[in-house]
Amino acid sequence: MPHSVVVIGAGFGGIGMAIRLLEAGIRDVVVLEKADGLGGTWRDNTYPGAACDVPSHLYSFSFERKTDWTRRFPPQPEILDYLRHCARTYGVLERIRFGTEVTEARFDADAALWRVATSGGELEARVLVSACGQLNRPVPPPIEGCGDFTGTSFHSARWDHGTDLRGKRVAVIGTGASAIQIVPEIARDAKELRLFQRSAPYVIDKPDAPYRAWQQAALKALPPLQALNRARTYALYEARALGFIRYPGLMRLLEKRFRRTLDDAISDPELRAKLVPDYPMGCKRILISNDYYPALTRPNVDLVTDPIERITPAGVRTAEREYEVDVIVYATGFQTSGFLAPIKVTGLDGRELGDAWRDGATAHLGITVSGFPNLFVLYGPYTNLGHNSIIYMLESQFRYVLGCVEALRRHGLDWIDVRPDVLDAFTRDMQERLRSTVWDAGCDSWYKTEDGKVVNNWPGFTFAYRRATRRPDPRHFRVRAHRDD
Ligand SMILES: Cc1cc2nc3c(=O)[nH]c(=O)nc-3n(C[C@H](O)[C@H](O)[C@H](O)COP(=O)(O)OP(=O)(O)OC[C@H]3O[C@@H](n4cnc5c(N)ncnc54)[C@H](O)[C@@H]3O)c2cc1C
Repeated sequence: MPHSVVVIGAGFGGIGMAIRLLEAGIRDVVVLEKADGLGGTWRDNTYPGAACDVPSHLYSFSFERKTDWTRRFPPQPEILDYLRHCARTYGVLERIRFGTEVTEARFDADAALWRVATSGGELEARVLVSACGQLNRPVPPPIEGCGDFTGTSFHSARWDHGTDLRGKRVAVIGTGASAIQIVPEIARDAKELRLFQRSAPYVIDKPDAPYRAWQQAALKALPPLQALNRARTYALYEARALGFIRYPGLMRLLEKRFRRTLDDAISDPELRAKLVPDYPMGCKRILISNDYYPALTRPNVDLVTDPIERITPAGVRTAEREYEVDVIVYATGFQTSGFLAPIKVTGLDGRELGDAWRDGATAHLGITVSGFPNLFVLYGPYTNLGHNSIIYMLESQFRYVLGCVEALRRHGLDWIDVRPDVLDAFTRDMQERLRSTVWDAGCDSWYKTEDGKVVNNWPGFTFAYRRATRRPDPRHFRVRAHRDD
């Protein structure tokens, strides 16, 4: 018997989707997870200092409020605990098949079901939901000679906790969101830390603080207070969208904050000059930290801006010289524009998703792709944000997918498939709107495909996305009614 819904991935997306399906009475839900634990991003990224950039009360499900967050910006272990709690409380845990990697999914139009091939055998599903995330496949070390290095090396998302960095010479390659959290933590212990920077990030101060016991107690005793706190934080973060998508000039306000953060922390003019980005603010993710710049002033830390030529058996060679190190940390990010890749997904008439996405991934509202009936993508193309919580976007998607699943049941349909003209119009609209955003303003970033097309980000307000996904519009879909053969 085919399952009603198979979900791929047990991160925020997969767990939240399964909760919503179960609450709607759809009990036959299976979640397939390639790893041995749940949590996605927050299971994989256990590097020292790993934490969220969005306040805890907003970076959590609206339907499962937690009042005892220890800090304003939650550290990784606490988010992972929260996700485990959600999976246990709502009965998702027993529906997750761990260690089960989906390798292929093929839509069988006659039988109106997805045939899903996994490392643990085949399953059938009426509805297939991909919750693979945008940031779960580390970029393989992109530098020549990586295999020659005789010391220890690992990617930031695969932190080797068995390696003691105390007294070691460490190279960190990359200066993105993970690196700026890692550097202050390991600089304290390492004998020498060489930080290799290709492009300086914009880093502003982080308004972080622990929650006091009385604040946690007040939030617990007064649910409206927590709702208010969440709404206030949401509004504050949402206001930033104006700078990203409408009025890039507004970025100047944040730019002043960046200058202040930099000038207060770094007095050496030469080092300061190296830390000023050469692209408009917001084009890449704006980072927050109170201890990144101070860490760079430590005597054992060296910021290297000469381009890396190759990795050698002893360390890292730039055009200028070779740096001998014991450990290399690749904080080089993720493969972001493939979405469901490397799963081979085949839809109607044998069409492969990889081919459909040859000019860049796309999905209507980031969720449905024409020719791939009853397939729903969470955190798909055009749904990443630079300014607010991804959990808000995911919750909008849960509602939309539920609407589709319920429409299938209510109207006795075999499948629904978004119309090609609807998807084309959506893609054109996204591309046109993205052209006037700061993300298109002349920088390389993980929001772009290799040929420079932004396909990851939502170029609007998140409340507009919520409105657009409130319920599926029947006019957007081709359907096939159920046939009793
Ligand atoms: C270091 C880091 C910091 C971040 N900080 C923030 C932040 O501050 N604010 C914010 O809003 N967002 C942040 N993000 C983005 C974050 O990824 C999302 O907020 C959110 O966690 C995405 O959840 P997800 O379930 O969609 O994807 P993920 O958490 O990536 O989960 C995907 C799951 O799918 C599984 N999977 C993938 N392929 C397969 C397969 N073929 N078969 C079976 N299972 C599979 C993976 O193992 C994983 O468990 C951050 C991301 C990273 C990497």
